[in-house]
Amino acid sequence: MLIIGSHVGFKADQLLGSVKEAISYGANTFMFYTGAPQNTRRSELNDRLTIQALELMKDNNIDINNVICHAPYIVNPASNDSDKHEFAINFIKNELDRCDRLGVKNMVLHPGSAVNESREEAISNIIDTLNKVFESDNTCNILLETMAGKGNEMGITTEELKQVIDSVNHERLGVCIDTCHLNDAGYDLNEFDEYLSNFDKLIGIDKIKCVHVNDSKNVIASHKDRHENIGYGTIGFDTLLKVVYNTKLENIPKILETPYTGEDVNDETRIYPPYKFEIDMIRSKTFNNNLHSDIKKYYE
Ligand code: FE
Ligand code: FE
Ligand code: ZN
Repeated sequence: MLIIGSHVGFKADQLLGSVKEAISYGANTFMFYTGAPQNTRRSELNDRLTIQALELMKDNNIDINNVICHAPYIVNPASNDSDKHEFAINFIKNELDRCDRLGVKNMVLHPGSAVNESREEAISNIIDTLNKVFESDNTCNILLETMAGKGNEMGITTEELKQVIDSVNHERLGVCIDTCHLNDAGYDLNEFDEYLSNFDKLIGIDKIKCVHVNDSKNVIASHKDRHENIGYGTIGFDTLLKVVYNTKLENIPKILETPYTGEDVNDETRIYPPYKFEIDMIRSKTFNNNLHSDIKKYYE
């Protein structure tokens, strides 16, 4: 079965609001941040809302096992600054506590950036962060995301992720692959089977627990990380479909993080979400060349 959704908000009505938003897109899963992705302020979880959310999910065939949480991207697990290092460990632990309380099984984490340090040092800091995080007996998994290589981002090659995964060697550590990031990091998604077999050889394909499905605004190996709507970027519709429907990734949640229609220069002026229409395109395997006008018509 195709398990597909998008990132959704987590606001005043918490998980209940996230579920409602996912349902409005015709999704059967979703990804959320437990607070704003760019800050670390977190509100108190309301168990009554969680119970309502779980009931609504049951009624709409959304399996909590397929729901993904995303850690805020401002924590840097690779940092060599001792305060930032401590902060990342504690913050990630807190996020795992919140996931456990919500019943969410997988949390995506960016491996971080090598700021004022070598990539080797950054790798050992990521390993140390994860080892300390895994000292707590949480149940939620951590999925390291494959990154585009913007600035000094870590986790841009399978080999780099392998170093971390081998050293931490924990059953709760997995991987989330992101199609835009793979493209921007230099992997040709036309050769996706090759990527997967290499991944399987180095890390083990069973470690892939989530796929972020995004087109890219930039050419291969650009190290930019700017997402584009499905079929409107340099990766293209057919290539993205091959990733989504790859039999080796069957039953793994596919999450869209594509830009809103009407979006402004800095990806900030968000207007209308594209997800309902992009999910339709992917389910029907038919490219919609009126995507943006259809979205506007629907929401206006
Ligand atoms: Fe991410
Ligand atoms: Fe992503
Ligand atoms: Zn990205």
